[in-house]
Amino acid sequence: MRTPAGFECRYFYANYYRGRNQQECRLVARDPASARWTPGLCRDCPVPKLLRANACQHLVLDARVVKTWGGLGRKVAVSASCTKTLADVPNPQAGCGRCHESLGKLRLPENP
Ligand code: SF4
Repeated sequence: MRTPAGFECRYFYANYYRGRNQQECRLVARDPASARWTPGLCRDCPVPKLLRANACQHLVLDARVVKTWGGLGRKVAVSASCTKTLADVPNPQAGCGRCHESLGKLRLPENP
């Protein structure tokens, strides 16, 4: 679904049916320790860009709303882990690279 910022995000949910104005981030909603989410946070959220850059099926994202320096602003902070290696992924846009290692072991059939 398209966020208020205009990006496609699989975690954004909105319901405007019959005058409703329900919007939620279903990624931030998974974290009960997160500060309150508001739709304006989608504007600078790294998740849509991250998902375009890395479509790995093993990548799991966690997100929470945190205060920025000085405590005046808020932003969505994202962390990632890999279900294949069970390790944290410090750079989710690039991934952990472990899947690429196994791709290197594949052999293409030789031409007859
Ligand atoms: S805050 Fe980020 S993850 Fe959540 S709906 Fe908006 S763009 Fe998607």
